[in-house]
Amino acid sequence: MGSGPGGKRHPVPLDEGRARNMRANRRVDSKPEVQLRKRLHSLGFRFRKDYRMDLGDTRVRPDIVFTAKKVAVFVDGCFWHVCPVHGREPTRNEWYWTPKLRRNVERDQLADQALADAGWTVVRIWEHELLDAATAAVVEVLSPGVGLPARVSIPKSAST
Ligand SMILES: [Zn+2]
Repeated sequence: MGSGPGGKRHPVPLDEGRARNMRANRRVDSKPEVQLRKRLHSLGFRFRKDYRMDLGDTRVRPDIVFTAKKVAVFVDGCFWHVCPVHGREPTRNEWYWTPKLRRNVERDQLADQALADAGWTVVRIWEHELLDAATAAVVEVLSPGVGLPARVSIPKSAST
């Protein structure tokens, strides 16, 4: 659904509005994440979402987790996780944002390392990636070499 950020509107400084928006998108079901879950689900994959794991002293919460195959998927916001395409350093409020973003990146690296040490495969998807490409990346890890089933042409009841 293409619902915008409805509800209250009151004037906020531009940066604050942007930050609020991104904060709102961050934890719960950012859109690319929802789409990816839906697609994977429609392809027959079952997974947990926002599954919290304690790995040693590192706590991680991947967006999509395949526990049996030990595959953890993160859908990373371009701004928060500093994607190479859109994650340019913020020029305003740098005193605040830059250390925060750096911490995010470091936390991501720690999470990846902890997961890898525990035998997990980590898939990181940028939120700007197209759904097909994102789906293909995950499927490739789950079922190497199988490739994506023809797009959404899953027979409703093909029992042969
Ligand atoms: Zn990006």
